[in-house]
Amino acid sequence: MGADISHEEAQDTMINSSPPLSAPLFKSAASRARPKGPAVGIDLGTTYSCVAVCQKGMVETIANSHSNRTTPSCVAFTDRERLVGEPADVQAGLNPENTVFCTKRLIGRSYGDPLVQSDLKRYPFQVVEGGNGKVKIQVSYRGLEKVFHPEEISAMVLSNLKQMAEAYLGRPVTQAVITVPAYFNDAQRQATIDAAAIAGLSVLALINEPTSAAIAYGLNDSDRWKVKRNLLVFDLGGGTFDVSILTVQDGIFEVVATTGDTHLGGEDFDQRLADHLTQEFKKKHNEDLTQSTKAMQRLKAACEKAKRTLSSNVTAIVSIDALYKGVDFHTVVTRATFEDLCSDLFHAALLHVERGLEDAGVKKSQVHDIVLVGGSTRIPMMQKLLSQFFDGQELCKTVNPDEAVAYGAAIHAAILTGHRYQNLQNLLLLDITPVSLGLETVGGVMDVVVKRNSPIPTKETRNFSTTEDNQSSLFLQVYEGERTLTKHNRLLGTVTLSGLQPAPRCVPIILVTFHIDHNSILTVSAMERISGNNKQLTITDTRGCLDREEIERIVHEEEEHRAQEKAEEEKREALNSLESSTLQLKRVAVEEKSLDDRAKRRVLEMCEETAAWLEGNRRAPKKEYEARKRELEDVCYSIITHFTTDGEKP
Ligand code: AMP
Repeated sequence: MGADISHEEAQDTMINSSPPLSAPLFKSAASRARPKGPAVGIDLGTTYSCVAVCQKGMVETIANSHSNRTTPSCVAFTDRERLVGEPADVQAGLNPENTVFCTKRLIGRSYGDPLVQSDLKRYPFQVVEGGNGKVKIQVSYRGLEKVFHPEEISAMVLSNLKQMAEAYLGRPVTQAVITVPAYFNDAQRQATIDAAAIAGLSVLALINEPTSAAIAYGLNDSDRWKVKRNLLVFDLGGGTFDVSILTVQDGIFEVVATTGDTHLGGEDFDQRLADHLTQEFKKKHNEDLTQSTKAMQRLKAACEKAKRTLSSNVTAIVSIDALYKGVDFHTVVTRATFEDLCSDLFHAALLHVERGLEDAGVKKSQVHDIVLVGGSTRIPMMQKLLSQFFDGQELCKTVNPDEAVAYGAAIHAAILTGHRYQNLQNLLLLDITPVSLGLETVGGVMDVVVKRNSPIPTKETRNFSTTEDNQSSLFLQVYEGERTLTKHNRLLGTVTLSGLQPAPRCVPIILVTFHIDHNSILTVSAMERISGNNKQLTITDTRGCLDREEIERIVHEEEEHRAQEKAEEEKREALNSLESSTLQLKRVAVEEKSLDDRAKRRVLEMCEETAAWLEGNRRAPKKEYEARKRELEDVCYSIITHFTTDGEKP
């Protein structure tokens, strides 16, 4: 059967089982018997990620081994090892093809997605079609060509954050609340859950980033929420931009509207500056930097630094030695130039603010607080324009913009694992679905079942019927989007209800239910009322997500990776130990005055021999280093012991 469905418009047949507004969502979540233990809050960012934990009523943002509280969401592959976070970011300019970042832009998307297609031209690493329309990332690792799902790369970032938390807490961490942009669709959310599973984390909840920041803000400022206030969260990070309008009263948060752009953020500002400096380089040196991914990567890293400097200074120096064909590049960028280059992007952000307010039915004069979240909100011009938009209203900056999202997620995680949290005992958090969801009906028209900005979890049921006499099956096509015709929206999945009782058209009643759970995962079920014949579809978007077998395979591979990395580490330690033993024995032979000359020569010879062997054997098996070390030490110490005049081993 084709996509022909007619439906009865009767609104009274709609069932809305959203929780009543007075029922605290957290209370019911906490009362579910969840395993206790440390659960962390993770802001899995496009460019930077952050992990926080809430213990005994205190939230701690966990620093990485470089003492930074945000860690680059970056993974690099070399001929010897895999690097995650800071070490990966640092070497990006030297190894651009195998340094992977921004996977949050790819996760849950199909290869043919126009956004993927336009993005992949910008990546120095290779994005390929990995079968079934899936996106894969191709790199060279240990001398071999390897392909990874975006979920696998995100899992490596998550695993790194998990290890940071475990090192800080001194205990295994297996549960997390992970934040996602408000605009993430079902496939992207499911893919994030898959990435967590690969990293060995069970997801207690996915929450929208602005919502999480609002929790952090509510905690810091709990006294302010005695009267109802409208709050606008302006979250401009590295790669994504979200605007959320929330109402807050007596510690109760309600998200009224969300809007944003999955492709607007600091990365775009860096790119603008990089494009500008590429032209400047061409003018000055008549060379095209875009011919070298390595040079472009180094230039972008320098632009990111300069951009940060321009938030506190009016000029920034960009200085890169031997940028291209041995030519150095030194220049000065002014804040005015930077602002001019990015002016349209700043204004585009304000258009989203306007749209969000419109969706929420809130006038700008009715917004009490404007909360800044995300590193890019530090840009003075962005702050100025936003404040001007709100007729000079002061912006709230008391929450650290880089950490607010993880901070709120940590509180959410603590509450979900049954920890009491004094300031938040009455906290109710309502989340909403950011995109309308519906079915295709006659003529390719989108019939919206769950409207955009509906509070979740939610369950909506509608009656549909057949369009032909004796129709034996019904083909349902589930779409997301705001356009009237489905061809302009996004197909999420299909479900066929077969075995319908023969009947004239419009007689069978088929109940179609859209259920969105607290993680925003959609399940669509269809049931013929009389026969009870039913079919269910959980939208995991096969074009974007991994199946269970694939996840198991990746988890297994990941374990192998870790075992390999551990073996590599042990090998390095054995090599290092042999090297230091050689140097130590050499020093003893040279410095030990009581050692007989022949013995001294013999020890030095053995040390030289070992050093030469080491030079040519940097990749020998661990056992060989250990055996060499034992032999060297046994022989040398025996010589030293026998041939020192006082007969003692030094
Ligand atoms: P987030 O995703 O919130 O961690 O934000 C990361 C983005 O914020 C990156 O693009 C950073 O370059 C940018 N960022 C961080 N600090 C600053 C700053 N002081 N001025 C401008 N942009 C910044």
